[in-house]
Formats: sequence, C-alpha cells, structure tokens
Amino acid sequence: MQDNPSAAKAARTAVSKPEKLSAVKGMNDILPPDSARWEWLEDKIRTRMATFAYRNIRTPIVEPTALFVRGTGETTDIVEKEMYSFDDRLNGEALTLRPENTPGVARAAIEHNLTYDGGKRLYYMGPMFRHERPQRGRYRQFHQLGAEALGFAGPEVDAELMLLVHQLFADLSLRNVRVELNSLGVPAERQAHRAALIEYFQQHAGLLDADAQRRLQTNPLRILDTKNPAMQEMVQDAPQLLSYLGETSLKHFETVQQLLTACGVSWRVNPRLVRGLDYYSHTVFEFITDELGAQGTLCGGGRYDGLFELLGGKPTPAVGWGMGLERVLELVRTQSDDFVQPRPDAYAIVPDASALPQVLPVLQALRAAGVQVQMHAGMAEGLGSMKSQFKKADASGAPFALVFGPDELAENHVTVKALRDGQGAQQRQPLAALADWAPTLQSRA
Ligand code: ATP
Ligand code: MG
Repeated sequence: MQDNPSAAKAARTAVSKPEKLSAVKGMNDILPPDSARWEWLEDKIRTRMATFAYRNIRTPIVEPTALFVRGTGETTDIVEKEMYSFDDRLNGEALTLRPENTPGVARAAIEHNLTYDGGKRLYYMGPMFRHERPQRGRYRQFHQLGAEALGFAGPEVDAELMLLVHQLFADLSLRNVRVELNSLGVPAERQAHRAALIEYFQQHAGLLDADAQRRLQTNPLRILDTKNPAMQEMVQDAPQLLSYLGETSLKHFETVQQLLTACGVSWRVNPRLVRGLDYYSHTVFEFITDELGAQGTLCGGGRYDGLFELLGGKPTPAVGWGMGLERVLELVRTQSDDFVQPRPDAYAIVPDASALPQVLPVLQALRAAGVQVQMHAGMAEGLGSMKSQFKKADASGAPFALVFGPDELAENHVTVKALRDGQGAQQRQPLAALADWAPTLQSRA
C-alpha cells in the first residue's frame, strides 16, 4: 500500500473534499431535454419496424472476445485497434464490450436455433463501444439501430432492408441522403478479383501508405476504401470486383436494383464500396449524407451469408445493416426539427402542504386519464408563495395551472387557469369533475 502513490493519493482525497468524477472520454450523457429527442426517434423506429414485421432482439452488451475476433474479423479496424477488451477478474474469461451487434445476433440465433422454422427478421437498438479518437459523429460509446434478416437468401430481402431504411428516413423527414450499392459476389469470384487486385497494388507499391502495405497481404479489398487522398487516383483505377461477377451474382444484384427503383428509391453503384471479410457476399450498401462533414455514413450493411458457419452454426444466408443514431439525430437537428420539446399539460399549484393528502389523489386520477401533470414540490424548504409557484408553472411550459388554494379546497374545488393562449382565463371546477377536464387539459391550449 505504502509504495503505491495513487492508492496513497486516493486515501488522502477520501478524507478531504472528494474529487469530481467525469464521464469516460468519448462517452456522453444524454440529458433532458435532448433525451426526449431520443425517445421520439426510438418511437418512430419501433413503429416503422413493426410495419415491416421486424421483431426486437436484445442480446448482452458484453460478449466473449472470440465472437468479435471471428465475427467482426481479425483484420478489421474494429478488432485491430478499437475494442474495449478485458479479462473477467474472477474467472479470467476474455470479454469485450460489443463494438457492433451483428455477431451477437448471429451467436444468439445459433445458440437458440432461431431459424429452425424459417427466416427471422430482427432488429436491435443500443449502445456500442469503440476506442476511437472522439470527434463529431464519432464517439467511444455510441448507439446503433440494426436490422438483420436471418435465413433469407433472395435479393428481395436485401431490397426490403434498404426500403426499411428509406422509409424510416422519410418518417424523420430527412432529405439528401444517397444510397450507394455494390456487390461482392461470392467467395470464388472474390478470389479471382483478389489476385488481380494484389498484382495491381504491387505494380503501384510506391504509392501505398503503411496501412495499405500491411493490408496488401491480409485484406487487400480494404485498401479500396482508403481515405488517404494521395492514394485516391491509384485506387480509382484498380480492378473492379463487379467485372469478376458471374451470371448468378449479377442477377442477384440486378434484382435488388430493380426492386429499389420500382419503389422510387434512387441509388448508384459505387464499385469501391467493400467489406473486406470473406463471410460477406452479394449486396453491400451505405446511406450517406454530405451534410455532416467527414462522418457522413448514416447506415451501412450487406449480406453476410458466411457468418453463421464461421461462428460454428449451420450455413444460413443473412443480410442486415447498422445505423449510427447520433449521426441520424444530428441530421434531424440540422434539417427538419419538427420535434416538439416535451412539457406537462398542467402544473399543480399547492400553496399549503397540509392540502397534499387531498390534492395528490386528484393528480393521480388525472394522470390515470393520461394527463401529464407536474406537481409543485418544495415541502422541505417551504412551498413558496403563489406568485413564485406561478413562476415555476410558467417555466414548466405547461399550458394550464391547477390551483389547489385554501378557498378552492374548502369547497372541494380547483381553479383551472390557462397560462398561455386564453390569457389567464380561469374557471372553478368541482374536484370530482376534474377528470372530465382531461381532454381540455390535453388539448394543449
Ligand atoms: P466509419 O467509416 O464511419 O468508421 P464504420 O464502417 O466503422 O463507419 P459500421 O461498423 O458499418 O461503421 O457501423 C454502422 C454505422 O454506425 C456507421 O455508418 C455510423 O453511422 C455508426 N458509427 C460507427 N462508428 C461510430 C462511432 N464511433 N461513433 C458514432 N457512430 C458510429
Ligand atoms: Mg469505423
């Protein structure tokens, strides 16, 4: 203990004023009123998912590290440098905070044999963790919505998943989001392309940065999505995977395009859109905006027919996407914002604490009728004058005040006072009839 300076410091600060603690860098608190925007988004998502018959799946936030090493891929940025991994102190198990949730969903589907009676359409929402450099649109704890269709091989389900994103973005009144598509074909087709790609990059070895040189052997496909400006031109002319696709793969890709077009979704093929992992096949796609700076990818996904086998399950075709909700909300904020800040319907003004046993049951009845009621509180320090309570009522944004004054209560009445439109119009009501007022209070005068 003695020769541990940080323990000694901790012991000292324990007796003096405790040090303030802050959140982990890159991990954000979501506070009111902003949290209401999240709830608004989550409601829109749940409603939209139901219309496509996607069902909610909730898997643990912590998974065995091996799941991501295999399921996300050893040569990805995520596994190479972004995972929060640790050994369980009690039994030494290697664990990781999920950096994405497709592997978790696939693991759960295998573990519970979810596809035994046919395909399953699933979605999840929740925090993901990646140790990245925090910046706008890039955090260490962020939130993803994901949809996964398990056990479906056909191109119509690839299209369906994109239509789902398209509809959801329409629900959020988002504009100027473009859809980029590519096809990765099947492993044999990629093998041929990979050989051509390596040869091409070797011919241009002088232009490869350190990252690219390392990837040349491990994951050459990933070089195609380099962000290094010095490599753009060279990469532009690299052999395209599309020209290595056979008839079946091309047909799959064309059907996806045709179905999107039939539904009025415009798209463009981006031959450099890749996922550098062998379990991916056929369609890959991204939804991108130019209005959020460098972090413009809102949603990315694709078909991952090989993943189940890689995780020890039966071969199961599957396709899905993941969406960054911080980025989506940022775009909502910059574009539309038809979101209304929450406020209570009514603020209960209670000048005398002795009235509370009479008042609270009335508030309970109002809430049971669906009215949003904020009770004036302050018993410990004194409830305050009527005037100061009216100030609080105003600040709450409530359109109505319910005044439970001594005069009113003596006659089992309450005064309903309009605080905004209606300019202070007020009406005395019997307490027993207050619940009848619910529709008026909720009309948000
Ligand atoms: P990027 O190229 O932006 O690093 P990615 O390829 O790592 O994205 P995916 O793993 O496909 O992203 O995750 C899907 C979506 O999740 C992204 O399109 C993005 O909207 C969001 N996302 C990914 N990483 C972060 C992060 N660190 N902070 C906030 N959102 C993120
Ligand atoms: Mg990333």
